[in-house]
Amino acid sequence: MAAPRDWLGAVEEEGNSGLQGSSGVEVVFPSDPATPAPLCPHGPTLLFVKVNQGKEESRRFYACSACRDRKDCNFFQWEDEKLSEARLAAREAHNRRCQPPLSRTQCAERYLKFIELPLPERKFCQRCQQLLLPDDWEKHREHWVVGNISVGQLGRPSQLLLPLENKKTNAQYLFAERTCHFLVDLLPALGLTRVLCVGTPRLHELIRLKASGDEKSNIKSLLLDIDFRYSQFYMEDSFCRYNMFNHHFFDGKAALEVCRTFLQEDKGEGVIMVTDPPFGGLVEPLAVTFKKLIAMWKEGQSQDSSHKELPVFWIFPYFFESRIRQFFPSFCMLDYQVDYDNHALYKHGKTGRKQSPVRIFTNIPPSKIILPSEEGYRFCPLCQRYVSLENQHCEHCNSCTSKDGRKWNHCFLCKKCVKPSWIHCSICGHCALPDHSCGAPKDGCFICGELDHKRSTCPQITASKKVIKAVRKQKQRKSKKTKMETVKEQSMNHTSVTRKKKRRERAHQYLCS
Ligand code: SAH
Ligand code: ZN
Ligand code: ZN
Ligand code: ZN
Ligand code: ZN
Repeated sequence: MAAPRDWLGAVEEEGNSGLQGSSGVEVVFPSDPATPAPLCPHGPTLLFVKVNQGKEESRRFYACSACRDRKDCNFFQWEDEKLSEARLAAREAHNRRCQPPLSRTQCAERYLKFIELPLPERKFCQRCQQLLLPDDWEKHREHWVVGNISVGQLGRPSQLLLPLENKKTNAQYLFAERTCHFLVDLLPALGLTRVLCVGTPRLHELIRLKASGDEKSNIKSLLLDIDFRYSQFYMEDSFCRYNMFNHHFFDGKAALEVCRTFLQEDKGEGVIMVTDPPFGGLVEPLAVTFKKLIAMWKEGQSQDSSHKELPVFWIFPYFFESRIRQFFPSFCMLDYQVDYDNHALYKHGKTGRKQSPVRIFTNIPPSKIILPSEEGYRFCPLCQRYVSLENQHCEHCNSCTSKDGRKWNHCFLCKKCVKPSWIHCSICGHCALPDHSCGAPKDGCFICGELDHKRSTCPQITASKKVIKAVRKQKQRKSKKTKMETVKEQSMNHTSVTRKKKRRERAHQYLCS
């Protein structure tokens, strides 16, 4: 099963326009699992195929599932490549070297020692992002160390740790307080008692804080996240280091069992999965992973409840709606705008900042999810869901059609509602921004198929660029390496940085259009 259009065209150099020359990379899920994928430090790699002008090239290759930047993981291997024993051994050694220095158990033991320390001895090294025990002090003497780490601070590691936002791989964007509280407050109302937090460390900690506080909540939470720094703050039963692009538990079977037990507790009653993956990530591998977690929950169900679904909140930008629904047709998108602390673009509109394009996709009936009226959300009885203030029910579409929170207008020629900034173009035969160039392919984005943005601003593009670089690099490696080449490569990296900057600017424009 190959991913459909989403990878197509993604690899093309920016500015290299037109659909004709489209080439890209697709992720392939082999139907025959007999040949297991080779391992990189992030678990099993994914199999990719390069697509040229709509045709698959025959040579497929493995690359890292998690890292969208070669600097983070440069794994590359042709599918049919035979590696010597020596190279396999070297790879294994490399994979081991890349693992965190402390085992999961050691981290938990350190945590127990740490909380026993008197307050003045509880230190945290900002530079190494690590809780220190007295034996470590000497080694960090020259670093920026803060002391008096309180129980309160230990309970909020997402505030203590620096978000890994500059790293494409982690893209750590933390929920703003209002969003985090909104999510936590929903849980009891929906009869939920356990939350599987997949890539939502801040939600995890708020749930635990509430449960430990005097509030009448005893909701349990298990965090799965790739960021090993969190191992320092939690015992094994509340954090597993996990890769959501390949369903890999870094601490093996024991961690997998922690997850299984959590999902199947109480015959699977009262549990929800909440996930907020990096937006640059690929939808298909994520969907495959989530289906595996859902299946794990399902194993614990009795026969007569086989029709039930595991409740899910998948937090992702609204322009992925069609992609997500391709994999999860029962999901619908809520109007609630998910807000972040450290993301300049994705902040809530009500406070005069930009409106966030990030939404909640869920299989819980939307009529049950009451959105805060203080923020202008109201109930549409016709749609049976809560909608944003300016989202108006269109009698022609018979739905509240706005996706971005602004009032959309119905176009009778297009027979649908469109963004307020769009006008109908008689040359193109559809609505578009007034300053669009006529005759441009009307397919919209060539990567995800959405009409409201182009390939250059598609959030999926970053993912595939890395893979292309990997292919290119591999080819370069074959040709003899000269000093000249190294120079060229450096300057290429430089252009790609400016290109990235431009793309970010364009993405910004797009979000504001
Ligand atoms: N809004 C959330 C954080 C979302 S940011 C909150 O406030 O709780 C994305 C999260 O996914 C980060 O915590 C990051 O460490 C994690 N992540 C990134 N890549 C991942 C991967 N491959 N597998 C698992 N988690 C990942
Ligand atoms: Zn990797
Ligand atoms: Zn409506
Ligand atoms: Zn129109
Ligand atoms: Zn036009």
